[in-house]
Amino acid sequence: MAPLLEIKDLTTSITSAKNKLTIVGGISITLEAGETLGVVGESGCGKSVTSLSVMRLLDKKVEISGNVLFEGADLLALSEKEMQKLRGNQIAMIFQEPMTSLNPLHTIGKQIAEPLIRHQGLSKREAKERATQLLRQVGIPRPAEICSEYPHQLSGGMRQRVMIAMAMACNPKVLIADEPTTALDVTIQAQILELMKKVKREQGTAILLITHDLGVVAEMCDRVIVMYAGQIVEEADVRSLFRDPKHPYTVGLMKSMPDVKSEQERLESIPGAVPLLHEMPGGCRFAPRCSKAMDICHRQAPELHAAGDGHRCRCWLYAEGEKK
Ligand code: SF4
Repeated sequence: MAPLLEIKDLTTSITSAKNKLTIVGGISITLEAGETLGVVGESGCGKSVTSLSVMRLLDKKVEISGNVLFEGADLLALSEKEMQKLRGNQIAMIFQEPMTSLNPLHTIGKQIAEPLIRHQGLSKREAKERATQLLRQVGIPRPAEICSEYPHQLSGGMRQRVMIAMAMACNPKVLIADEPTTALDVTIQAQILELMKKVKREQGTAILLITHDLGVVAEMCDRVIVMYAGQIVEEADVRSLFRDPKHPYTVGLMKSMPDVKSEQERLESIPGAVPLLHEMPGGCRFAPRCSKAMDICHRQAPELHAAGDGHRCRCWLYAEGEKK
């Protein structure tokens, strides 16, 4: 059976007066119905650009190529009108900072009701009732009163709950969550993650979860994709990734993660920084930061290879027999 969402060879680039810069290149991802897939990496690795490309929410000057297949339709080939019908209805998105998506001039109730009227043909009264019900489901106290309040009157955690209520209003098949808990306190984070799990359980929604936080991945995901400098560098089942990370970048990410069970006093960090778009190394993009780099790594870019235990890995260490 075809996956619910299939991203094939997605490449997003911008052309400046001087040259063409590729932000993400050759990304291929599948998302199965009811699955939670984590996309993890440092800021600047291209994970948010990938999701915004899928939703076609980037500036028109940005070029996107490849295919994004959702239930047989290629989202990159749809008209803007067709895309609008799909966004917030079949595929919904939540962001790190809800204030960027909530309209400060409209009440919470109006903002939740609007897609219900537009996509589902509910009357104003029905949509208002459903909005109250949705706020109750996401754990907002006094939902009827909150419906008449404005975003600035709510705390960050409450606003994120409102975003989830809005995202879930039309029972989307896919929820793209971009750093949904990063701006929140730890206790509120845990509540929001629990809420997303509940939504997945009750509505069977598939979740594409974009995060820099491996703790969130461990808590939420079935499978993980690790991105570095605009490329996928490793893909694996979540347990297998945590048990036996293969790519040196993934190993570095794991070592920089606090572990309450270990007595380690200092966390290790990956030396250096993600390369700038116009300064991408010619061979492996991680080579300048990699303690295992070999001669070939600086000369030739590795492809994604099968690396055992169901992992796919973009590293010459796992491409024995293919080195040139
Ligand atoms: Fe390190 Fe080479 Fe693997 Fe790149 S290809 S991650 S430089 S060992």
